[in-house]
Amino acid sequence: MFRTIDALDVKGKRVLVRADLNVPAKDGKVTDTTRIDRSAATLTDLAARGAKVVVLTHFGRPKGREDKYSQKLLVEPLAKAVGKSVAWADDCIGPAAQAAIAALKDGDIALLENVRFHPEEEKNDPAFAKALAALGDLYVNDAFSTAHRAHASTEGLAHLLPAAAGRLMQAELEALAKALGNPEKPVAAVVGGAKVSTKLDLLGNLVSRVDYLIIGGGMANTFLFAQGKSVGKSLCEKDMADTARAILEKAKAANCRIILPVDAVVASEFAENAPNKVVPVDAVPDDMMILDAGPASVESIVGCLGGCKTLVWNGPMGAFEIKPFNMATDAVAQFAAGLTGQGKLLTVAGGGDTVAALAAAGVDARFSYVSTAGGAFLEWLEGKTLPGVAALEIKASGGCGCGGGSC
Ligand code: AMP
Repeated sequence: MFRTIDALDVKGKRVLVRADLNVPAKDGKVTDTTRIDRSAATLTDLAARGAKVVVLTHFGRPKGREDKYSQKLLVEPLAKAVGKSVAWADDCIGPAAQAAIAALKDGDIALLENVRFHPEEEKNDPAFAKALAALGDLYVNDAFSTAHRAHASTEGLAHLLPAAAGRLMQAELEALAKALGNPEKPVAAVVGGAKVSTKLDLLGNLVSRVDYLIIGGGMANTFLFAQGKSVGKSLCEKDMADTARAILEKAKAANCRIILPVDAVVASEFAENAPNKVVPVDAVPDDMMILDAGPASVESIVGCLGGCKTLVWNGPMGAFEIKPFNMATDAVAQFAAGLTGQGKLLTVAGGGDTVAALAAAGVDARFSYVSTAGGAFLEWLEGKTLPGVAALEIKASGGCGCGGGSC
């Protein structure tokens, strides 16, 4: 259970909002404002209710104060997104921040300089967290994408001020809860991508949570190899065969059905439009590589999804960046999106290349929820506790979340 901004009385209060405005930029200009635009909902909501809104965020990976990571370039696109001017302070603590905040009227918004200009931020240094907390009356975390990090602005602050989840954080937590917390069954997971070794925790967690685990992408090759099949020149982590077999055993014990490709699209080289053919997975030629799942595999996956109520998706089914090896990813994604549109399947996806793969398939807006959170989404799929989320949780004993004495 967590408090949302609806539960906060914000009028006249200084509200510190940890947003994720870590957008791509080139030559001092923001090149994609998606994250800024998505953050506007929380900021405009608070401002409309008379809060003095103070935005905290990070930009890049500075080592101390580095001009090229100054957030000043965010002021203009942020002002555009929230439809009003945005004040600026060239530090996130101390006199500059204090002066900018003191000048705010109810309903105004200020952006403070990069929290990562202070190395204490990433160390979750108590004195730094206290210096941030002194600038506000309330704390709102709207940055799910950094919730897997216990930093001062993502975790420490929640213990020092009454805390709540912003709109984006709320949407993410609600979607994730529906997908794995308390999902409608049967639940399927599609896990694709390059390697088993990067997704061990994720696979280990999912086999005990889902009814069907559909494995695709390069990692399926390792499973096929572990089952004694020859995978030719395919990407395959042969040293992970024992691990793959252990995951298959764990799945069996947990009553989770693993669905592996039954046929594959193979080519001689990893290249766009490389000559290719479809073969059964036990007839992969020695001089060819698996680059996608074949049509019979897609049919079996689609058949499985047709009987499911919930789908969690991470990773492409094949080398989707090079045509035509996007076909299985596209076909399965489009089928899932169709079921979502008919209200038959809840679809939650995210992590790594998944967003790009679903966007390329033209279905990202047709899934129930696509998380852009990357690492935080993956850690959640792995079943890990995210410190930024845990700190927002309302303890069973009640209380405001400020840790005592701040409200
Ligand atoms: P990940 O970041 O682990 O989700 O992996 C995504 C990458 O896996 C993409 O770049 C895909 O091209 C790659 N991939 C998926 N299937 C295959 C395959 N059969 N062979 C080689 N690479 C693949």
